[in-house]
Amino acid sequence: MKGQGSCERSEPTVIHIDMDAFFAAVEQQAHPELRGKPVIVCGDPDGRAVVSTASYEARAFGVRSAMPVKEAKRLCPHGVFLSSRLSDYGAVSRRLLEVYRRYTPVVEPFSIDEAFLDVAGCERLHGDAVAIARKIKEDILRGFGLTCSVGIAPNKFLAKMASDMQKPDGLTVIRADDVSRVIWPLPVGKLYGVGERTAEALASMGITTAGALAKAPVDMLVARFGVMGRVLHDVANGIDDSAVDPAVWDRPKSLGREITLVEDSSDEDVLTRHLLSLSEQVARRLRKHNLVARTVTLRLRYSDFTTLTRSRTLDEFTCYDEDVYRASAELLRANWTRSRKVRLIGVTASGLAPSHDYTCQLALFGGHAAQERRRNLASALDKVRDRFGEGAITRASLIDTGEAAGGGCEREGEGERARG
Ligand SMILES: [Mg+2]
Repeated sequence: MKGQGSCERSEPTVIHIDMDAFFAAVEQQAHPELRGKPVIVCGDPDGRAVVSTASYEARAFGVRSAMPVKEAKRLCPHGVFLSSRLSDYGAVSRRLLEVYRRYTPVVEPFSIDEAFLDVAGCERLHGDAVAIARKIKEDILRGFGLTCSVGIAPNKFLAKMASDMQKPDGLTVIRADDVSRVIWPLPVGKLYGVGERTAEALASMGITTAGALAKAPVDMLVARFGVMGRVLHDVANGIDDSAVDPAVWDRPKSLGREITLVEDSSDEDVLTRHLLSLSEQVARRLRKHNLVARTVTLRLRYSDFTTLTRSRTLDEFTCYDEDVYRASAELLRANWTRSRKVRLIGVTASGLAPSHDYTCQLALFGGHAAQERRRNLASALDKVRDRFGEGAITRASLIDTGEAAGGGCEREGEGERARG
């Protein structure tokens, strides 16, 4: 299936690499006595944590990631339960990226164990995408003792779908011509990025398979989902224009704002108002940079200079004031010792992704027109602020104490940059 010489637009040059049972496999490599055994990596094996990764031996017992550890122990009492060692897995992950970059400079790390590569133009040196994928699989097995599942397709969406089709140690090619045969029979919920809510909304319109979605009138989908209707229709037809983006390395890892209060305070109202203002500013900067965030962090420094930092991961990506505020206010409520005076308060958004990314778009819009109206409103407010300054629009609760939000020394932080 060598595509050499052909120059169709839809040539499969995008490779998605997904490491098999990554954390567990790294542990089995580091500890040969664990090979062949059911290994279950989790946050904290004795706490109320959930499973991060189960080796294939453990999966045979029904253990899955995101399952409570308690349940995993019931299903697999003789399993080897280990706490995750993220920095070690991260180190392996970075060395894997170096392997990929030997074949193409266009490498986009997607998560700790996944990456997209575009190998267009690399054929003369290394062969076509399938040949390159085989070489990479060999390099990884020989150099790391690890296996991966690879998807090869004309775009990221299809490559991601493909890598999931034969696990573990798979290599699956989806060509443009294969979409009707391979993608259309799938339930809509199996399409990468289509969540439960969107699948339910589609079902209520009588659309349950990818094929039905692909053939549905675009106008009808747009009427129901806004611009995302178009994206859904596209991906069901195997169309995804988003590029493999190596610049993900240059993006900030976090965006934050903090303020040192004019006077240390233990007044919940004052702190809450600051949170609201900081959240608005952080969310606005997310929108300005076309980013969305998955994690919100609250930072409090008490009068005695001790610092408390607490984070919350959201269900979905966001770039909205309300979501950032709600998460930070919950963190304040749950963690602040009321009697203690606060001298500095900060809000940071991390787990950032580009908002044009297909999955983030789906999550962001939640597949509902109301979400799109919300986005339009936010961008209208941003325009007013750009023109007339930060104080032009403030939420009702800020108006009565302009001083509370304004008084203090604010600092803007752009987190450390991701590094290769
Ligand atoms: Mg994986």
